[in-house]
Amino acid sequence: MPELPEVETTVRGLASILAGETISRVSVRRADLRRPFPPDLAQALTGARVSGLSRRAKYGLIHTDRARTMVFHLGMSGRWRIDPDEIGKHDHLVLETGNGHVLALNDARRFGSVDLVDDDALDAWAPFAALGPEPLGSGLTAQHLARAFVGRIAAIKLMLLDQRIVAGLGNIYVCEALHRARIHPEREAGTVSLPALKRLVPEIRAVLEESIAAGGSTLRDYARPDGELGYFAKDFLVYGREGDPCACGRPVARVVQGGRSTFFCSVCQK
Ligand SMILES: [Zn+2]
Repeated sequence: MPELPEVETTVRGLASILAGETISRVSVRRADLRRPFPPDLAQALTGARVSGLSRRAKYGLIHTDRARTMVFHLGMSGRWRIDPDEIGKHDHLVLETGNGHVLALNDARRFGSVDLVDDDALDAWAPFAALGPEPLGSGLTAQHLARAFVGRIAAIKLMLLDQRIVAGLGNIYVCEALHRARIHPEREAGTVSLPALKRLVPEIRAVLEESIAAGGSTLRDYARPDGELGYFAKDFLVYGREGDPCACGRPVARVVQGGRSTFFCSVCQK
């Protein structure tokens, strides 16, 4: 499943082709993904110039000179393919650019989404309105977390997965950041000290930035040899490593919190 770093890498890869370009042709090849494509999607994008791209949480935004933005979510299995040899049955939306590139949004399981939002309505758009600060932005601070956690007895792991507290942070990155900050994932959020939160915030950023860097810094790196954007191999200290030795020698433990696996070290994390 694409996490924030894959979405960021995908957006950067798309930007290297789309930014400043005109969309010359749009083909919508089925009616819906998770929900219907906007009925005027092809009309709204054909002939539009892409003024820039950005990311909010795990959404990619393609901004146009028509004061409307195409917002995509990759769901469980979505990916953009650049200049594919042929269009396949899971390529549900295909954009062609004025300079001859073809971009195909491929989504075998169709949990993704595509929406068109007026620029002046973006902040208030329902999926964005309740989101907390971006983990890589200046809004995420130890003080922000301390305020959000006051009096809360829920486990810090679960609080960090709450999109209203931090936007777009996934299970893998919460496990890794808590390990690096030496905070036990089952600690009641309200009992975590401010110094511990001050260790945590830079580790959240570092683990995300390292994964984004692993996704490449040039288009040649972003796209795998088959032209597919956004998925790359990553190495983690605890995630997916139950039973492997932590740096301290103790085997990495796994518990289930909120229906999802948490990996941690019971010696290093308190
Ligand atoms: Zn350890």
